[in-house]
Amino acid sequence: MPLTAEKGFLPDFAAIPEDIAKKAKMMFLNYPNNPTGAVADEEFYKEAIAFAKKYEILLCHDNAYSEVAFEGYKPLSFLQIPGAKEVGIEFSSVSKAYNMTGWRIGWAVGNPDVIEALGRFKTNIDSGQFQAVQCAAAVGLNGLQDAVEANNEIYRERRDIVVDGLNAMGWNLPKPKATFYIWAPVPKGFNSASFAEFVIEKAGVVVTPGNGYGDQGEGYFRISITMPKERIAEALERMKEKIGKVEF
Ligand SMILES: *Cc1c(COP(=O)(O)O)cnc(C)c1O
Repeated sequence: MPLTAEKGFLPDFAAIPEDIAKKAKMMFLNYPNNPTGAVADEEFYKEAIAFAKKYEILLCHDNAYSEVAFEGYKPLSFLQIPGAKEVGIEFSSVSKAYNMTGWRIGWAVGNPDVIEALGRFKTNIDSGQFQAVQCAAAVGLNGLQDAVEANNEIYRERRDIVVDGLNAMGWNLPKPKATFYIWAPVPKGFNSASFAEFVIEKAGVVVTPGNGYGDQGEGYFRISITMPKERIAEALERMKEKIGKVEF
């Protein structure tokens, strides 16, 4: 589904052709969103649930960034919306909240029939996760959550360096409420690939070309704030010095 800036990077259910909707079996949603940093409100999930009910589509919500949010914003769980458990399940993971990316442990919750089918399928294609990883995840989930808060404060600081830095060069970006990504349009005269190349050559900074995330990502790039703030500040300084003001 195309995610456009005009629609706040949320899918437009009304724009999905009837024949496609009727054929669809499963729909994946992901908010807070990677790569756009967009978030979804209750109204959006209500629409999604109504759409899933109407066309008998299984809704799968990927909520990997549920804990990575700033300044008091609390991402919703899809399952807190009335009717959600009739149509879908939610996935999450310790990857982002507990700095356990690559440790490969997460969970699925929601509609009991779907969870049962998923469980039956999973037990036939693999075996349980390495026990030490399970124990580490349990410590993360059961322990004090102040490390999550502290992490979010680190990401917020880095986010502000990137957004303020780009905006000083001519962008007009809002600060994402959640995730550790900044999704920005490329300046006039560039596409995603040519801009990424330009930034590497001019400033020695790597940004991710948006077209790698699908056709709708063309014309955008993503900055990931998974480096220390000093390094991020240096990247923005170099961009400012070597690229200067940009136009759209
Ligand atoms: C990081 C991420 C995940 C988590 O994946 P793991 O396999 O648990 O590390 C899921 N969805 C999105 C969109 C992500 O960015």
